[in-house]
Amino acid sequence: MTNGERARPPGGGGPTLPLHGERERLYGKTLACVHCGLCLPACPAYGNAPRESLAPRGQVYIARALLEGRLEPAAGIAEDLYECLACRGCETVCPAGVEVGAIVEGVRGLLDEEGVEPRSTRLLRRVLLGGVVARPRILAAAMAAIRLGSRLGARRLVRAALRRFAPKWASREELLPEPPPRDRMPRRFPARGPVRKGRAFLFLGCVAPHLRPETSRAAAEALARNGWEVEVPAAQGCCGALHLHAGLRDQARRLARRNLEAFPGEGPIVTTAAGCGAALAETGELLSGDARAKAFGFRVSDVSALLVRGGFAAPAARPASRPLRVVYDAPCHLFHAQGVRQEPLEILGALPGIELTPFRDPERCCGSAGIYSITRHETSMAVLDRKMEQIAAAKPELIATGNIGCHLQLAAGARRAGLAAEVAHPVELLARAYRRGDRRSPRRGPDRVG
Ligand code: SF4
Ligand code: SF4
Repeated sequence: MTNGERARPPGGGGPTLPLHGERERLYGKTLACVHCGLCLPACPAYGNAPRESLAPRGQVYIARALLEGRLEPAAGIAEDLYECLACRGCETVCPAGVEVGAIVEGVRGLLDEEGVEPRSTRLLRRVLLGGVVARPRILAAAMAAIRLGSRLGARRLVRAALRRFAPKWASREELLPEPPPRDRMPRRFPARGPVRKGRAFLFLGCVAPHLRPETSRAAAEALARNGWEVEVPAAQGCCGALHLHAGLRDQARRLARRNLEAFPGEGPIVTTAAGCGAALAETGELLSGDARAKAFGFRVSDVSALLVRGGFAAPAARPASRPLRVVYDAPCHLFHAQGVRQEPLEILGALPGIELTPFRDPERCCGSAGIYSITRHETSMAVLDRKMEQIAAAKPELIATGNIGCHLQLAAGARRAGLAAEVAHPVELLARAYRRGDRRSPRRGPDRVG
């Protein structure tokens, strides 16, 4: 990389001039890889196209070679680096603890600084992430337009036109569900129950409030029911996870600073989207040197983790006569990045009227991966179709998952596979069970949470 910090080494044994700051941190991370290859079976990108440059160790090798100056940054290199889904499945199986996700995202950031990025996705990354997702008002206006278009039937026409003239884009457009009516969340949910646990701050995210508002409402209700006073700060914004995945680190930093101001004080910052949670928890690393950012990161908790670790009340409802068949698909950024593995299962296990059914590789990526499903659509759909084969074998009536991106992807996957299964967040099922328990009269029939 032509930053003047190092020269091309003659024998490829390391950078000849010292690296500093971000580059030095990234370079240190690349040295941990011992090229054992144990990560290969865990990698969806490599599974889809078994090329060494797409494997986790190949990605680390490319990153190291770029930092050492043995490889010139070029669009072709960027194309390979952007094939990684940043799912971090490789990290869970890596015996050396290599932080592949951080390395790939960091090197994408350095390439971006040098103006090297995949040509195929340049416009999308800039316009969609910088111009829409990072700007709450523009995002709200875009969602309102889509909502109106759906109501007036314009979306059907657009879809038909895309199918006819741009089938590649029709398939992408179908990933976006009909946005439900706008839900104006209260800013405060008072604590209920005999034990008060303190104040928790709910993080909403950027697209989730528009596409799945009931998740946030369910989280707030479930937390309040379990003794948390819930506050929903008005000044919060996008977590920047999508920008980080896409190498737009400056934009991610701007968004992180905004959220630092929006969540002052103490108390857990609760997320319902695994991707947001992982990004917010790593704010200290993104804004390295800022002590407030580090403390902010420690406050972040997934809603399932906070409920389970604080001891949540099991819903009081009678078991269903025929239980609802449910599978749980673990979001990568919950399972691999945050290490939250059992808690969603504990919540689902406490719900009356469901039969939690195992299926193969629930912790493997569904192919959503931020805007990957748009920018690398074919790979994303191949990864999704493999996931849906595994899920369909379990014959679920409901697919539970804890990340808005996975939610949309799995819902699209169910449509593609012809599987009539609802997709819902575990906390939505918990809140539904609480509500039904509240409403239930002695004469009512059996309860189902779905
Ligand atoms: S990333 Fe880890 S598992 Fe993969 S080759 Fe390197 S050391 Fe081995
Ligand atoms: S983060 Fe996921 S896609 Fe990327 S190298 Fe690791 S396993 Fe493969």
